[in-house]
Amino acid sequence: MTELRRSWRPGYVRMARSGELERRANALEAMLHRCTVCPRECRVDRFARLGTCATGPDPLVASWTPHFGEEPVISGTMGSGTIFLANCNLRCVFCQNHDISQRPKDFSDAAITVEELASIHLALADRGCHNINWVSPTHQVPQLVRGLSLAAQRGLRLPIVYNTNAYDSVEVLRLLEDVIDIWMPDLKYADAEAGRMASRVDDYPERARTALREMFRQVGDAWETGPDGTLRRGLLVRILVLPNDLAGVEESLRWIASELSPRVAISLMAQYYPTHLAALPRRYPLLSRPISAGEWDRTLEALERLMDGANCYIQDFREAPVNYRPDFSDRKNPFPGAGNS
Ligand code: SF4
Repeated sequence: MTELRRSWRPGYVRMARSGELERRANALEAMLHRCTVCPRECRVDRFARLGTCATGPDPLVASWTPHFGEEPVISGTMGSGTIFLANCNLRCVFCQNHDISQRPKDFSDAAITVEELASIHLALADRGCHNINWVSPTHQVPQLVRGLSLAAQRGLRLPIVYNTNAYDSVEVLRLLEDVIDIWMPDLKYADAEAGRMASRVDDYPERARTALREMFRQVGDAWETGPDGTLRRGLLVRILVLPNDLAGVEESLRWIASELSPRVAISLMAQYYPTHLAALPRRYPLLSRPISAGEWDRTLEALERLMDGANCYIQDFREAPVNYRPDFSDRKNPFPGAGNS
């Protein structure tokens, strides 16, 4: 890790000064008229109709709060300034955030302005958060970059975390180069059939791997950290272990090690529990139980064998399914067990 000089500023600050951030926001907003913002490529005019993500041209925020349950390098001591975007471009049957990701009617009248979105960024900065963490941002990237542009003009200087399911368009990711400081993608499946069954897209591994290649091209496998030890720039890939090897973890790790680098930081997650539609065993029998100790041990062995191990995070197998369970009935504090203030 490299400790950065005091004068460190996120790339978007320089881009805001030069006008480049405005140009990126304009280019992204233009995509909303025939939407190809994500690989679903609905090609709807989001000012007039809704696509699969059921989200128009304005920001939709479900919850925002300092979050202390992310990886320590993200949460630090003051929390990650988390903004949970409402709705999603995937339809994961086991989504732990399904209350906010798959109930678009709950948010049909909840649009805010980009000025309000900028104010949320600044309010999180005022609370001392180490970064701004966009959770499930893919379908709202144009709105987020416009909001960021306004927040930068009003003094925001925190790193931006792109906390994504990785079903992202490469064209969009290229427009986010130097806008995003910390790429934090999931890698959900190695097998397309698993993605079809559990997230309802035909091409998850191909799209997600292409997205990860682009993120890696931008920041590589090295991390830059600040004086407080939190991440300022880098890539952290999250892999949620699913029962019955549905995530194909070993295959994904082998791909990362051979096609990107064995030094890519990995966060291995044991927090799976059957929820949402996966809690219906007749519909989704392969997803209807937590992972077993044997499945977890085999995953750890693969991680040790295939990856360098530096900067890897491993959840506690016994505590994770309880500790990381969100409850969005309280949108101001959806993670009480993770120590949110
Ligand atoms: S962002 Fe939404 S409307 Fe646009 S392509 Fe993706 S799912 Fe469709």
